[in-house]
Amino acid sequence: MPKHDVLVIGAGLAGQRAALAAAEQGTSVGIISKVHPVRSHSNAAQGGINAALNPEDSWESHAFDTIKGSDYLGDQDAIEIMCREAPGELLDLEHLGVTFHRNEEGRLGTRAFGGASAARTYYVADITGQAILHVLYEQLMKFSEVHRYEEWFTTALVQDEDGRIAGAITRNIRDGAIELFQAKAVILATGGNGQLYDPTTNALICTGDGIAMAYRIGAPLMDMEMIQYHPTTLAGLGLLITEGARGEGAHLYNAQGERFMEKYAPNKMELASRDVVSRAEQTEINEGRGFPDGTVALDITVVPRKRIHEALREIVNVGRDFAGVDITREPIHIKPGNHYTMGGIRTDVDGRTSIPGLYAAGECACVSVHGGNRLGANSLLDTLVFGRRSGLHAAEAVHGLPLRDPDLAQLEDEERRISGIVDRDGSGRRVSEVKAELGKTMDKYVAVFRDEDGLRTGLDAVQRLKEEATDLAIDDKGAVFNQDVLGALELQFMLDNAEAIVLSAIERKESRGAQFRTDFPERNDDDWLKHINVSANGSEPEISYSDVTMTQWEPQERTY
Ligand SMILES: Cc1cc2nc3c(=O)[nH]c(=O)nc-3n(C[C@H](O)[C@H](O)[C@H](O)COP(=O)(O)OP(=O)(O)OC[C@H]3O[C@@H](n4cnc5c(N)ncnc54)[C@H](O)[C@@H]3O)c2cc1C
Repeated sequence: MPKHDVLVIGAGLAGQRAALAAAEQGTSVGIISKVHPVRSHSNAAQGGINAALNPEDSWESHAFDTIKGSDYLGDQDAIEIMCREAPGELLDLEHLGVTFHRNEEGRLGTRAFGGASAARTYYVADITGQAILHVLYEQLMKFSEVHRYEEWFTTALVQDEDGRIAGAITRNIRDGAIELFQAKAVILATGGNGQLYDPTTNALICTGDGIAMAYRIGAPLMDMEMIQYHPTTLAGLGLLITEGARGEGAHLYNAQGERFMEKYAPNKMELASRDVVSRAEQTEINEGRGFPDGTVALDITVVPRKRIHEALREIVNVGRDFAGVDITREPIHIKPGNHYTMGGIRTDVDGRTSIPGLYAAGECACVSVHGGNRLGANSLLDTLVFGRRSGLHAAEAVHGLPLRDPDLAQLEDEERRISGIVDRDGSGRRVSEVKAELGKTMDKYVAVFRDEDGLRTGLDAVQRLKEEATDLAIDDKGAVFNQDVLGALELQFMLDNAEAIVLSAIERKESRGAQFRTDFPERNDDDWLKHINVSANGSEPEISYSDVTMTQWEPQERTY
């Protein structure tokens, strides 16, 4: 049985940052990832990371922009911490070896991003996530305290008889062996859940596993209705065209050649917050001013070609390879598409969840710094700041504690559950069919515009699919790289996420941030300036509320 003081599940930016912080305290750390760590979705982050580092900028301004961006649903104490710690985090990364872009004078260069009142996004061309992830991975290798479990798939969390976390059950993808990992603390850093939408910008591995595992043992999920649609994704495929393009000056046009953002956000134009730009585009498309393929156009040709090749080279490739468009010469058709989950496992500012010994950080967690809408380039920051804080806190908290005795019956139950999946006959629906139906359902009913009828239809479908997912057809009976079984486990995780999202969206009877209810089109602070939590512990989901923490910023009308 592998044993560690701190077990980190997930090796994207949040997980690796947490592992590094814990290892620096001399703690024994295990870090598990279902893919090779540098293939985590963090690798795909293009645009950059925010920090108020410039002397003319201030953490207060960054915090205010974030709070306004969140439509006042973000917790201001957590936002203050994130924005105060951002410059230090960025400089640490630079010192570790991240080659952030430098301007002509050799200083760190910035680009503008949506919803920000200053250009405070630091970047490495349009491969920022990859650059940071590789540097962290390299750093982790220096520590003999860190043991990496690459291509291991965690299926469930394990508690002792007092309910304290005692470890996790994990399947070795290479040979199908199931192990109980014992740990004094577990940090979930399993990333987002974009795959429950179709299309999405998220990698195939973003299936909300950790969110569902925490939910299954009773941890509340918060702000789950807040799903971000990114304004510039390729129709059909969902591939992302970074906000960095608009940061560099690109314009949006409808099919009539109008720069339509003038109507919706006359001051910030294309660089209004993502919820605002996505709604504006969808309104143009719904009202017949889009192109026949259900899109509007992003014109990057206004950016000098030399600059495009220097700062946006990855999306030059995406445009050419996936849309047949040379973005340096002609506009590219785009539309809003699923991108990010603001909600997740509720934590405090040190990553602690409601389950003793269980932490969460990164996209699977909800601290909540993004509230109703995340600003671009604040997520990488969130993963690093709260990843580090979770790793540090967990290492300090377990110091001197004994390992907990897990309840071994949980391992037997889990082995039985998984062999039950492998042994199924071929009579049920296929994983891919159920997943495709889930994706289309979410994209139709739980997207940019929502209403009660649509959400109820979505909920009925999700609940039916959940039932069907208990009896999926499995073809592969083998132990080695059995993706069929992993697909079935992921689908069940996704369906738990989907149910929590739709229930929360039905509950919130107002429009705020990414949740726009056509039947309740106004923000209603009197009744809804509060977080919605969903929890379940083997029983029916329950809804509860928690207060939004306010420090110094009163809610105002939100215009851009
Ligand atoms: C295309 C794209 C571009 C983006 N660009 C930006 C940007 O420019 N700036 C910005 O701030 N944000 C950006 N984001 C958002 C940001 O990249 C993510 O929110 C962030 O990287 C998530 O990091 P994470 O560490 O929480 O999770 P991830 O990087 O998704 O890592 C999750 C980890 O968990 C592991 N895992 C999951 N489930 C299991 C399991 N069951 N068992 C074992 N391991 C498991 C995975 O293997 C992986 O290692 C972008 C997102 C996308 C999709």
